[in-house]
Amino acid sequence: MPTFQHSFLRGFLTARLTDIKVDAHVAAVVADNLVESCLKGHDSHGVTMLPRYIAAINEGGLDPHAEARVILDAGALLSFNGGGGFGQVVGRQAMAAGIARAAQYGVAVVGMADAHHLGRIGAWAEQAAAAGLVSIHFANVNSRSPVMPWQGREPRLGTNPFCVGIPAAHQDHPLILDFATSIIAGNKARLAWNAGQELAPGCVVNDQGQPAVDPRWLMTEPFGALLPFGQHKGSGLSVVCSLLGAALTGGMTERHDNRDKQRILNSMLSILIDPAKLGGASNYPQEIAGMMAWVRSSRDDAAVLLPGDAEHEKYQQRLAAGIYIDDVSWRQLAALENSPRALKA
Ligand code: NAD
Repeated sequence: MPTFQHSFLRGFLTARLTDIKVDAHVAAVVADNLVESCLKGHDSHGVTMLPRYIAAINEGGLDPHAEARVILDAGALLSFNGGGGFGQVVGRQAMAAGIARAAQYGVAVVGMADAHHLGRIGAWAEQAAAAGLVSIHFANVNSRSPVMPWQGREPRLGTNPFCVGIPAAHQDHPLILDFATSIIAGNKARLAWNAGQELAPGCVVNDQGQPAVDPRWLMTEPFGALLPFGQHKGSGLSVVCSLLGAALTGGMTERHDNRDKQRILNSMLSILIDPAKLGGASNYPQEIAGMMAWVRSSRDDAAVLLPGDAEHEKYQQRLAAGIYIDDVSWRQLAALENSPRALKA
């Protein structure tokens, strides 16, 4: 049961990427993003993603040299194509451009089509919040689509994440609401499978549509399905994430088959708002602080968490105590060191 310091993992992941000729600065950006996800408690989008990324590079579905390509540049509207490049790179580029536009216009609408995996979407909301901006993100996932629409019989949807970030100057971290529209993120099933654990009841169904707890139904044929959170509500929000995140930005919705490929494509629509420029909101810092305190006061033992609190707490703990990786996932990572595959020129 290995536990690792974050600094070791940053170095290890960077080295596995440079082994296959990924540029050192790109490798470091990707490694940092994956390690940060683990530090924030989202192992599902952390370092154990690397074997799949490298498999996608070797298969030609992830272009490690791609940069965000401008498709539209029209004032507060910006649109990019990610070209299957590292989401950690093209996502950061698109957000940086959006942040600059929101500073100019008070708002920016940023489309990102067909990036490779954008990872933990909260990272993008944190980037915007660090610049003082509210942000809203709708993303879809074009991969093997494991999620059953509400009352469906066959899976049709990705785990399509939704995220909102709100700067909260009165505390040391922003409010970040960030979740998959499936009841659990798909990669949580992969981690449970690797660790030999069952899933909580109510997350998956088997290939006959019957309730199940074995993660095998998401890992190997015949496949079952993941359920949306909140019945018709999560299912509806997932469809909206696909329509806004992909259809509207020029990205691939889930109806385009990608089931046998290693690559994971994300498309995302982000709306960035400068709250200081939104007329009528001059008292917003006080109101945000007041409302958050009001919700926390629901009980007097500080047990009510607000979005972003859990990640902030985990971060402090894991910086000190390290990051646990189950044996199977660590063996998959360690195997990369022994068999790096040369990146095609
Ligand atoms: P989750 O179920 O852990 O929910 C996380 C959200 O709930 C956070 O906003 C967190 O602050 C909040 N939260 C947690 N505990 C809370 C509590 N006790 N009280 C109040 N709020 C609480 O998240 P998930 O659905 O498993 O998603 C995990 C990650 O996976 C997210 O970062 C998401 O962006 C990412 N994801 C990415 C993709 C992709 O393709 N890139 C797809 C799906 C999910």
